[in-house]
Amino acid sequence: MKVADIPFVNRKLKKHYAEAQHAPVIEFMRVQSGTPFRILVATILSARTKDETTSAVVKHLFSHIATPEDLAAASIENVTEWIFPVGFYRTKAKYLKELAQVLLDQYDGEVPKTVDELCKLPGVGRKTANLVVTAAFNDYGICVDIHVHRICNRLGLLKTKTPHETEMALRECLPKRYWKGWNRFIVAFGQTRCTPRNPNCHDCPLQTVCDRVGVTTTRKQSA
Ligand code: SF4
Repeated sequence: MKVADIPFVNRKLKKHYAEAQHAPVIEFMRVQSGTPFRILVATILSARTKDETTSAVVKHLFSHIATPEDLAAASIENVTEWIFPVGFYRTKAKYLKELAQVLLDQYDGEVPKTVDELCKLPGVGRKTANLVVTAAFNDYGICVDIHVHRICNRLGLLKTKTPHETEMALRECLPKRYWKGWNRFIVAFGQTRCTPRNPNCHDCPLQTVCDRVGVTTTRKQSA
């Protein structure tokens, strides 16, 4: 795939997204929506966790809390219980408690709006920060998770070794008008067709531009 193919690929990914209503990311996007605080918390919870699990936990957690004040007032034991079984739930409970306090002490209870400010918060890395600026503030960000990293490399658009390299490379080559949709379109595609192992290349809408048509991988070669 070449940079010139981006409009074609985006069009196909967008069409696939509209049809892939069973993709777990679509339910997660619904559950994740709401206040910037809810979007931030949901995104932190989603790290290293399947979207199906995160969606259920976010609903459960937000039946107990709604604001940074509520979260700061809750006990660590309760928060831990409410967010089980997301991955690393004990560590995330600790981060969430710290996050609530930092938001109250340093940001007047509001969620900051830039990637750099968001990255200063407990438990927030670039992936989360980019997703929050896009989903909560309708601003430009490129959230790179394992699906975006894997598929951009499989297609041949990039040759990068880490998600951070992928984000920086996409910031260079992807026209800004595609930034906001790129993550969710590719995640849905990665969950339902271009899966980590044995992707379903048969009839793939990106076959004509993909560098790795027919790829099969083992656990050790997941890219
Ligand atoms: S042709 Fe196969 S490897 Fe390429 S994007 Fe489609 S499913 Fe993924």
